[in-house]
Amino acid sequence: MSAKLVVLAGPSGVGKGTVVRELVRQKPQVFLSVSVTTRKPRPEESHDDHYIFLSEQEFENEVQKGNLLEHAQFAGYMYGTPRKPVEERIKNDQTVVLEIDLQGARQIKKSMPEAFLVLLKPPSIEELKRRLIERGTEKPEELELRLKVAMGELEAEKEFDAVVINEDVQSAVGQLITLLHLK
Ligand code: 5GP
Repeated sequence: MSAKLVVLAGPSGVGKGTVVRELVRQKPQVFLSVSVTTRKPRPEESHDDHYIFLSEQEFENEVQKGNLLEHAQFAGYMYGTPRKPVEERIKNDQTVVLEIDLQGARQIKKSMPEAFLVLLKPPSIEELKRRLIERGTEKPEELELRLKVAMGELEAEKEFDAVVINEDVQSAVGQLITLLHLK
């Protein structure tokens, strides 16, 4: 049987976004949850596709109404998983993937212990730094903060059900397909 609720976590810049998008391209039956965030869109990001971009007040309203399955502050912004689309897909027996941070992963494991937690790791810290710098979307202070958080996330490896090293996208996606028993 394939895993129903899958959490893909891992440090900023490791390539989670690229990996989950390639996974959904190869396995369109997988539902990728679209998070809400107070972060501003990056140039290549569009509303409703990468994130639902909200103001702080709008985000707070979602929290108050209980509309988020989990939420966390990350590097100065709020991020959260809309509850309804995820619960509906799970009810319909679809595999759902949440691409979220470590704090979110922990909340999900607590509220939905059947969730399967995967940690996506970089081949090395040097490579992670290189990828983050190459992405060029953060100011130097924010990049430093993200690298600091990354170290903590990598130390939490034993909390995960599986670890995938993102050496290259195709092999990472292949490992995920095997781990999740996707047809
Ligand atoms: P970014 O700003 O680079 O898009 O995302 C920053 C971090 O927030 C990443 O580790 C990403 O996985 C995480 N993130 C994205 N959406 C959510 C969410 O809905 N909940 C939580 N807890 N983290 C999220």
